[in-house]
Amino acid sequence: MADIIALANQKGGVGKTTTGVNLGAGLANLGNRVLIIDIDAQGNATSGVGIAKSSINKDIYDVLVNEEPLQDVILHTTHKDLDIAPATIQLSGAEIELTSQIARETRLLDAVKTIGDDYDFILIDCPPSLGLLTINAFTASNSILIPVQSEYYALEGLSQLLNTIQLVRKHFNPDLKIEGVLLTMYDARTKLGHQVNDEVKKYFKDKVYKTIIPRNVRLSEAPSHGVPIMDYDAKSTGAIVYTELAKEVAAAHGKQK
Ligand code: ADP
Ligand code: MG
Repeated sequence: MADIIALANQKGGVGKTTTGVNLGAGLANLGNRVLIIDIDAQGNATSGVGIAKSSINKDIYDVLVNEEPLQDVILHTTHKDLDIAPATIQLSGAEIELTSQIARETRLLDAVKTIGDDYDFILIDCPPSLGLLTINAFTASNSILIPVQSEYYALEGLSQLLNTIQLVRKHFNPDLKIEGVLLTMYDARTKLGHQVNDEVKKYFKDKVYKTIIPRNVRLSEAPSHGVPIMDYDAKSTGAIVYTELAKEVAAAHGKQK
């Protein structure tokens, strides 16, 4: 049965998508079957694994709003054992359209139940908001991985995120856990980097990953080539750290093969 992890932080640009794609590829390299579900209308995870928007007939919108089978929208990527349920700009209307529908919070849960045996890990790349799409992700997930960008006010907004997690636990998913907190875009040369690291550890304690993701220009280049970092520059710092993170996550789930 798949372990389902949502990547969430309502701040944009903190590394959710970068982590989804590269952690996904790292877990696949360890012998796991991995599905990324893109629920951001930007579709950055979709293009980041090399799926051209023009080649998509149906996407996650059709699953959530029209209740089409999830199986029908899943595509293979060029990376072995890494699949994607793509998103397109069509998804931008979903929050409003779902509002008036029955079981609007559990659409994604109902969908993943049908394919859970096909994968070892399902990673859900959330949009930068705490709306109905993110609530669908939290309702469908076992746990939440929170990327935190190393910057001033890094923890700002996280109390709203934790409140949303509490609400979803109360109403839809009592077993929802915090998978871990990942420090991203870290600069070890600055005092700020160390301060943020200390602050995040004080707040989240042993939930903070040992692996820290530094700023690495190769990580920002890989998406335009439509491949995970390991397939773009296997020797880069980005490839090394996301492989380390994958090992940490796989070990936590007893899925290091
Ligand atoms: P989110 O999904 O949270 O909005 P992204 O993963 O898209 O964030 O990252 C935002 C931008 O920062 C992207 O352009 C991405 O390529 C870049 N980026 C992410 N992580 C790193 C990193 N560790 N080093 C350098 N650039 C990064
Ligand atoms: Mg994103």
